[in-house]
Amino acid sequence: MEKHIVLLPGDGIGQEVINSAKEVLEAIAEEFHHSFSFEQQEIGGTAIDLYGTPLPEATVEATKKADAVLLGAVGGPKWDNNPSHLRPERGLLGIRKALDLFANLRPVTGFKQLLHASPLKEEIVAGSDLLIVRELTGGLYFGQPSERRDNGNAVVDTLSYTRHEIERIVDKAFKAARVRRGFLTSVDKANVIESSKLWREIVEEKKAEYPDVTVEHALVDSTAMKLITNPTHFDVIVTENLFGDILSDEASVLTGSLGMLPSASLREDDMGLYEPVHGSAPDIAGKGIANPCAMILSSALMLRYSFHLEEEAKLVEEAVQSVLESGAHTGDLQIKGGRLVGTAEMTKLIVDYIKTQHPAKCIQDCYR
Ligand code: NAD
Repeated sequence: MEKHIVLLPGDGIGQEVINSAKEVLEAIAEEFHHSFSFEQQEIGGTAIDLYGTPLPEATVEATKKADAVLLGAVGGPKWDNNPSHLRPERGLLGIRKALDLFANLRPVTGFKQLLHASPLKEEIVAGSDLLIVRELTGGLYFGQPSERRDNGNAVVDTLSYTRHEIERIVDKAFKAARVRRGFLTSVDKANVIESSKLWREIVEEKKAEYPDVTVEHALVDSTAMKLITNPTHFDVIVTENLFGDILSDEASVLTGSLGMLPSASLREDDMGLYEPVHGSAPDIAGKGIANPCAMILSSALMLRYSFHLEEEAKLVEEAVQSVLESGAHTGDLQIKGGRLVGTAEMTKLIVDYIKTQHPAKCIQDCYR
């Protein structure tokens, strides 16, 4: 398979962890005989320094031609006092808009070695493995401009969704459930909100197209409770923009490890932008100690959701899991009795696992 990938390192540790993802993808390409080409462009504070804008035209043009985009992180104290059009985050919002990325996917996996870092009891969070699919471009955040009335003492925000907007996100969630455990929780507030009623109707219609997926409807308030009392109940959760914003942040703290959380933002044709949930971590930037796992796991999502290379995606995830099991870890993770390593060594261990495991599997398959 031939694919062209645009790398947007951005700022701070984004510059470091993006190389880790590239090395992992190069190893995958070599082992599975794919051809991945890479092109680097600038975004965020680095782009402001070089070109006077957080999102240069060349970056937008390159990403539009790409099969997928990997982004490190943007931001840092150097640009904190810039006027709003020269803030690094503008680059991130701009690229999501330019590429029409409407589906945000955030997996949350409870790695065994890290469960002690969770704010929940280990027995509650153990075995958690869920994916939140959030609608990203509609709903309350994108309604009519908010209106103040009664001399500023009353306010109107609008929440609007079209059938098309709901159908396309629900469709992405069904497809994601299909390659996981086949269980979809659709979250709404259909007992109160009209847009949620339409949402529920569309999920009911869609489920006929996916007989292999089991669907449940749940209210957002009870889902918020269940996420912390029984997170292993969930496989894929699909929900609208505001509910998804809140639930995905709630879910992200379950595993207690910011450096392990990847994310994907997808367009209708499955082109996507993949980035870690964490920021540019200016406090540790340039020291070679950043945890590359969230970035590497983001590249696994890219293999799965944009390129439909499930075996390759699983091998990357298995490599990360196996290296953690060996006890190797970066400073942000506390693994009892483990061995502290930097970004480069953590990456090398993951790449080595991919290179040593894959030929072994291939030989078994060949002799089957
Ligand atoms: P942050 O995620 O950058 O850092 C929070 C803490 O977690 C820091 O102590 C940091 O050292 C640590 N950390 C984060 N990722 C790590 C990793 N991979 N390995 C080891 N430790 C890691 O959040 P922040 O400090 O609130 O924000 C710093 C900058 O990043 C700000 O300018 C903010 O606007 C920006 N930011 C960008 C994004 C993005 O690009 N998507 C997301 C969040 C924050």
